[in-house]
Amino acid sequence: MDYDVIILGGGIVGCAVSYELSKYNLNIALIEKDYDIADDVAFINSSVVYDGLECEDTLLAKLELMGNKLMPELASKFDIGFKKKGYLLVANSEKSEKKLIGVYDRALKRGIENIYLLDAPDIHEVEPNLSKNARKAIYSKNTGIISPYDLAISYGEIAFDNGVNFKLGEEVLDIKNISKGFKVVTNKNKFTCNMVLNTTPAENYSIDSKNKINRDRKYMKYFLLGENTKRDYKNIVSMMEENNEKIYTMPTIKNGLLIGIGNHKKVSYEKAFQRIKCFMKDISEEDVEEFYESLFYNDSLIIDDSLVDKGYIKVIGKHYGQITAASVIATIVCETIVNNLNCILKKDFVDRRREFYRFRDLSNESRKKIIKLNKNYGRIICYCEKVTEGEIIDAIRRPLGARTIEGIKRRTGAGFGNCNGSQCICSIASILSREINKDMTYIVKDSKNSNIVKGRIKEFDEM
Ligand SMILES: Cc1cc2nc3c(=O)[nH]c(=O)nc-3n(C[C@H](O)[C@H](O)[C@H](O)COP(=O)(O)OP(=O)(O)OC[C@H]3O[C@@H](n4cnc5c(N)ncnc54)[C@H](O)[C@@H]3O)c2cc1C
Repeated sequence: MDYDVIILGGGIVGCAVSYELSKYNLNIALIEKDYDIADDVAFINSSVVYDGLECEDTLLAKLELMGNKLMPELASKFDIGFKKKGYLLVANSEKSEKKLIGVYDRALKRGIENIYLLDAPDIHEVEPNLSKNARKAIYSKNTGIISPYDLAISYGEIAFDNGVNFKLGEEVLDIKNISKGFKVVTNKNKFTCNMVLNTTPAENYSIDSKNKINRDRKYMKYFLLGENTKRDYKNIVSMMEENNEKIYTMPTIKNGLLIGIGNHKKVSYEKAFQRIKCFMKDISEEDVEEFYESLFYNDSLIIDDSLVDKGYIKVIGKHYGQITAASVIATIVCETIVNNLNCILKKDFVDRRREFYRFRDLSNESRKKIIKLNKNYGRIICYCEKVTEGEIIDAIRRPLGARTIEGIKRRTGAGFGNCNGSQCICSIASILSREINKDMTYIVKDSKNSNIVKGRIKEFDEM
C-alpha cells in the first residue's frame, strides 16, 4: 500500500483531520486540486465562531458548541487571531419576535449557556448604534471571530511537519475499491491505500452512493467597511430571517465591519445597498471599502461512515458554521480511522507551528532586533498592511509554503489593504519567482491559468 490513509480535499476539514491523524504512526497523504490549502474558506479573513444558537440542525448545533469551546485554546496554541465578540440575534417585527422566542427556548434545551433574552432598552445598552426598531433580541456571550486561513494553515503546517504528504495541484478523478483497500486515481497518479476520507463535494466517484442531504444556498452580497468607519458595532449582529432574507454584520479581525445580505434570489447591488440602509441608517457608499459576492451555505452536514467497514468515510454538505465545527468533525473522523487501523500515538509528534514575525504588530525595539538579524525585515513590500520582504520570503519557505500570490496574501496579509495589492503585486510576484526559481510568466494569482504576467512584450537577444 502507498498510504494508510488518503484525505481528499485540503479545505479546513481536510487540514484539521490531517493534523489530528498526524499524531499517529500512520502514513498519510492529502490530495488537493488547487495550488494551496484552504482556498475556499471565506475570502474575508474573519469568520464567526458560532455557538449552535441559530443552527437548525441539532447535531451540527452540538458540533458548533463543542467547537466553540475548543477555539480559544486552539487559537492560543497556534498563535492566531481570535477575538471574543458577543452575538445579537434581533427581531424587528411581531412575527420574527415569536420566532426568536422559539430559537431561545430551543437553545436552552440544547444546553447553551450565557444567552439572554433582551427587550428594546437593554438591546441598545448592549449595542448603542443599532437602529431603533429592534423589539427583542437574544444576546450570546459565547461567540467570537477568528482568522479562518490562519487556522487552516496552522493545521496544515503542523501536519506537514509531522509527516503528512500534501499533494497540491492534483485532482482526484476516481476512487475504486480493490481487493484490499482503495485505488485513488488522480490526473497525475494512482495511489493505493487502506482508508479514504473524502471531504470534497464530488459525489460521482465509483465508490459513492447518492446521499440525499438538504441543500440550502443563498446569494450573498458583502460590504466591507474600513477600519475607520463611524458605524462601529461591538457585537456580531444578525437579523431574525424574514422572507428568507439573511442580514448580518460582524466586526472583522482587522477592526473593519462586514455586512452581509442575501436571499434565495439574486438581487442587484443597488437593491442590496438600500436594504442594508434600513438596518444601518446613516451608511453611505463612500463607507464601503470592498464589495464581494458569495454563496451562503446552510446544508445539512453528514459524516457518512456507512462504508467504514470497507475503509471509506465522507463528509457531505457545506455549512456556514463549518469553520467552528471543523476541530470537532476532525476529532470524530480521526477516532473512527484510528479504531479501524489499530494504530498508536507517535512519540515524536510536535504540536507547534514554526515561529513567524508580524512586522506590523512588533514594537520598534523588536523590529530593530529582527532587522539586525535579517535585513529583509527592513524592506516594506506592502505599504498598506506593513508587510516586509522577510515575511514574504518566510511565507514561501515555510513548511507547506505559499506558491501563489493569494497564498502569500493569506499567510502575510500583503495585498489585503486599501489598494488591493495594486502597489505591491509585482514586487510579490517577483520575490516568489526568485524564491521558487521560476520565470515571472509562471507565477499565478491563485488557480491554474490565473497568471500575473501573460508574456514578455519584447525579447532581446542582446542590448
Ligand atoms: C461566504 C462564507 C462565509 C462563511 N463564514 C463562516 C463563518 O463565519 N463561520 C464558520 O464557522 N464558517 C463559515 N463559513 C463556512 C466555511 O468557510 C466553509 O464551509 C468551510 O471552509 C468548508 O470547509 P470544507 O473543508 O468542508 O470544504 P472546502 O473548503 O470546500 O474543501 C474541499 C476541498 O476539496 C478540494 N477539491 C474539490 N474537488 C476535488 C478533487 N476532485 N480533487 C482534489 N481536491 C478537490 C477543493 O478545492 C477544496 O479545497 C463560511 C463560508 C462561506 C462561503
